[in-house]
Amino acid sequence: MPRTNYQLENEDHLSRRDGERSLEVPRHETLWFDDGSVVLIAGNTQFRVHKSVLACKSVVFQDLFTVPQPDDAQTVEGCPAVHLTDSAEDLEDVLDVLYHGLRYKSSNDPTWRMVRAFLRISDKYTMDEIRKEALYHLNIYAPDNTEDWDAIFTGSTSCISYEPWEEIDIANNTREPDLQHIHAVALYNCCHLPTKTLILGGTDMYSDARIELSRDDLVACVTARERLRIATSDILKQALRCNLSYTCTGSNCFTARNSAIHSWRDMDLPLYDPLAMTEVDARTRYQVAGVCEPCVEVLVGLHQTARQNILDKLPTYFEEELEETDVNPQA
Ligand SMILES: [Zn+2]
Repeated sequence: MPRTNYQLENEDHLSRRDGERSLEVPRHETLWFDDGSVVLIAGNTQFRVHKSVLACKSVVFQDLFTVPQPDDAQTVEGCPAVHLTDSAEDLEDVLDVLYHGLRYKSSNDPTWRMVRAFLRISDKYTMDEIRKEALYHLNIYAPDNTEDWDAIFTGSTSCISYEPWEEIDIANNTREPDLQHIHAVALYNCCHLPTKTLILGGTDMYSDARIELSRDDLVACVTARERLRIATSDILKQALRCNLSYTCTGSNCFTARNSAIHSWRDMDLPLYDPLAMTEVDARTRYQVAGVCEPCVEVLVGLHQTARQNILDKLPTYFEEELEETDVNPQA
């Protein structure tokens, strides 16, 4: 027997309900088109949209609409009604993009909530374009090179907007093999949350749900904090031990280098955050201490290589067992 129209009873994400209850559900203010051909009902909102638009963006909807409709199927103003178990907010964010375009790419950055909606809905309904949009923003959030990392850190590149505790939610929603680097960056950022927040999480303002790290990720973060603290200190130790430039033009570069590093270590070393020591920060500290330019180049080059090495191996900081060499940026 072919499955009945709009009744994917074996798939809990789509279901049809009988009766006229949906008529009491408020209509979305803008995502209600008078010439729409299907009414989606999610949470406390009805969306009247077009089958053709959904079908060309989603394999799941395409399949759903090819099945003939039974006589007793629920309708709203003559349109078939489809009840979805998604939140109205998630559906709104995705429909908004389908109808109004990828507006966030060039102007405002989306909030994490929107990107999370893109991830959830695209995964559930196989919407490749929406998934690409989510990944576009997540890849900016989680760069794989120090240059782009520094651009976010210094605010010259903008990125998804979110509350600090929402790093936990980002980590929870990126636990899949092909998002490994993004997940590691979210966990890395979780390491810098206040310990109380790291353990207790935060409250989702839309669902009121408590969002906490999984037990595994929490253990991983606590373990990684120690590894990252060592990695931070190792970057400076390595700079203290290295040979300076063969073309040194200074008279006391060794002393200047040492004093720059000691003051760095004593004053404002970022705890658990070796990547926060930006290239500009390193260069400025050496220059101010009086290191000559060729020697500054050597030190900054080493510094950046060590940071890139950490970024390349970021997921390993959150793995259960780690080889000693893996936490050592010189490795
Ligand atoms: Zn020098």
